Amino acid sequence: NELSNSLAAADIAHQLHPYTNARAHEEKGPMIITRGDGIRVYDSTGKEYIEGMAGLWSVAVGFSEDRLAKAAYDQMLKLPYYHTFAHKSTEPSIRLAEKLAEMTPEHLTRCFFTNSGSEANDTIVKMVWFMNNALGRPEKKKFIARHKGYHGITVASGSLTGLGGNHRDFDLPAIPVTHLTTPHFWREGAEGETEADFTARLLKEIEDTILAEGPETIAAFIGEPVIGAGGVFVPPEGYWPGVAALCKKYDMLLIADEVINGFGRLGTPFGSQRYDFEPDIMTLSKQISSSYMPLAAIMLTDAVYDVIADNTAKLGSFGHGFTGSGHPVACAVGLENLKIIEEKDLMGNAARMEAPFQEGLRKLLDHPLVGEVRGVGLIAGIEFADKTTKVNYAPAGSVAAKAAALCTEEGLIARNVYETLALCPPLIVTEEDVAEILARLGRALDRLSDWAKDEGLIA
Ligand code: PMP
Repeated sequence: NELSNSLAAADIAHQLHPYTNARAHEEKGPMIITRGDGIRVYDSTGKEYIEGMAGLWSVAVGFSEDRLAKAAYDQMLKLPYYHTFAHKSTEPSIRLAEKLAEMTPEHLTRCFFTNSGSEANDTIVKMVWFMNNALGRPEKKKFIARHKGYHGITVASGSLTGLGGNHRDFDLPAIPVTHLTTPHFWREGAEGETEADFTARLLKEIEDTILAEGPETIAAFIGEPVIGAGGVFVPPEGYWPGVAALCKKYDMLLIADEVINGFGRLGTPFGSQRYDFEPDIMTLSKQISSSYMPLAAIMLTDAVYDVIADNTAKLGSFGHGFTGSGHPVACAVGLENLKIIEEKDLMGNAARMEAPFQEGLRKLLDHPLVGEVRGVGLIAGIEFADKTTKVNYAPAGSVAAKAAALCTEEGLIARNVYETLALCPPLIVTEEDVAEILARLGRALDRLSDWAKDEGLIA
């Protein structure tokens, strides 16, 4: 239709898109999403999709929450903007900080707001350095992260991210980070190794790294309880309590990046609860506001807060913050979103939907192209690889890309991350919705088999 075509032409003429091949985009044009309703979105041609990725792992409450629109409108009328610098505050930022302290594990009591997950992790890097400076140990600066971990794309958070592109393509002046083995037993486990052996080996790798570099140089360990954007990796049994013990032993801070995991995605309120560890710092974003507004928060323990606060008293100020830190409209929307998550028991719903969702997906292990199906709660990854050799198909990522394209045709938005098709539906899904997601996915994967035969990938 005419509007759709003119929008596409304007998009091609004027936008550079994130994570997009710009030249391919000029050829293909955009898929223009115009409207949302519950778990569904509609494009500019009127085609309906189930949003199987909750946008970018974000929209807990679905795409049509009037209460969030009203919260934004009311706050805009009352006070559309004010900052939180230099002793100023606003009611929404105060109420949301209080709410986050109440919802997160008890030992996390203090909150610092940013606009995005990347900014939050950049801020954490600076906070950790600020602290160690104050404690008279500025050489304790290095971070340990994992290959395939995702922590953002700004200069510091991009260094924490363990996915090649940031460093390779942008020649980032990387901050000191060591990336260790992805906690993914199926691929990284050695021949004959049990899951417990694998955990022990990864913990030894961490400890060996700390000792080789010198504990006096290692500031912190950062990780997503379940890795999301790098391919959806569920840690092996005992991994997180082991990491937490090493952080204690070597006086390192433990940072849980719960930007995707937080607020029920894993069937527990926070990922650190599912995996039984207590981080010193927690990064939150995405489901905090269902991404209706850009918003992120850093949660701190009293102990961490006190070191920072004492140093600000000495220096005169904490010289860090964003124009949008604690933005009143974003915080009002975030607060209302968290109330909806609680009132509708969406975190409980994620736990209840885990069995039908995950068990339904495990049936895809019969599919000739599927190597592994993994996930917990309402997040999952389907990796395409030869079942016995575990070798991914060539060219890299092509099968997952084709699978995502066929899902789109079948009316299901899923996302190809490397060799894996990821799913992360809104937390409001019902059992019927889950069945419909599985049905659309099944049709797409049947077509994928036909395509793979035509391509000569399988017999
Ligand atoms: N951490 C994690 C775990 C994420 O998944 C993301 C975004 N996918 C980020 C940080 C960065 O967040 P943002 O895109 O808001 O900068």
